[in-house]
Amino acid sequence: MPEFQRVFPDDAACAAYLEHLRWPAGFVCAHCGHQEEPYRFPSRSSVVLRYPACKKNTSLTMGTVLQSSHTPLSTWFWAAYLLTDADAGHVGPAIPAAVGL
Ligand SMILES: [Zn+2]
Repeated sequence: MPEFQRVFPDDAACAAYLEHLRWPAGFVCAHCGHQEEPYRFPSRSSVVLRYPACKKNTSLTMGTVLQSSHTPLSTWFWAAYLLTDADAGHVGPAIPAAVGL
């Protein structure tokens, strides 16, 4: 629990983690394929990034089990953590596996 809270204190931290999983070398627009720093919406819980040049949105959860979920990322991450890694006492590879990345 303490490590989980340190690593994922809020939805923004979960979103940043998903972004890193999806694009380890940096954001790539799902629509035009350009790789560039995206626009980030002000809402800290937003999972949508926008590539400024084509003005289209790319969702961090696109193609994952979270795509159509309205559950906050932090809640979902916590559930995945409890289901898989609670005994190990650390944040392991369960979350990417659980979300399908
Ligand atoms: Zn684009």
